[in-house]
Amino acid sequence: MVWIFLGPPGAGKGTQAVLLAEHLGIPHVSTGELLRRAMRNGTELGKKAKSYMDAGDLVPDPLILELVREVLAGAKGCILDGFPRNIAQADVLGAILKGVGLSLTGVLRLDVPDEMLVARIAGRAREESRADDSEATVRNRLKVYAEQTAPLVEYYRRAGKLVDVNGEGSIREIQTRIREIAAEAAGGTKE
Ligand code: AMP
Repeated sequence: MVWIFLGPPGAGKGTQAVLLAEHLGIPHVSTGELLRRAMRNGTELGKKAKSYMDAGDLVPDPLILELVREVLAGAKGCILDGFPRNIAQADVLGAILKGVGLSLTGVLRLDVPDEMLVARIAGRAREESRADDSEATVRNRLKVYAEQTAPLVEYYRRAGKLVDVNGEGSIREIQTRIREIAAEAAGGTKE
């Protein structure tokens, strides 16, 4: 199974994606995490990505696509979190999946009211002290989401892949909703 988590920063994608990946026994692929690790390890990729991430801008597609190609080579399925982030990435993802004999199961779009996003991001900034959770950067990340990533909602809706998930409630309640959707999809496709 290949699931994409889609939603603005603070929607809870990371938390829910990790739990679903554990439940299904497939890898959780977070491009943001992979980039943060590359930065910590001081790799070439990390150095190139740093200024974009610090500003809350998208890292250029060629860097991201190379990363995703490497991770998906040989994968039996995965939970994608934070990728794709724009239409060009989504187009390439389709080709990469085809190349490794996988198909997209669906796109889980987490619906969360704006006030809740801001509260969640502020909480995460306190707990994890992520460099890109400063106020100006968060504002830019929300803008980048609206301009570049939100069009993927229509893109995947038209492809019949979009599933809206109510993103309000406790972590456990939201995860239960998601697992029901995943179980239904698995039953329908016998994957
Ligand atoms: P995230 O942890 O998914 O919120 O990502 C943190 C930051 O990493 C983003 O603000 C971007 O700078 C960068 N990033 C993560 N995933 C992507 C992607 N698919 N395309 C471009 N930039 C990305």
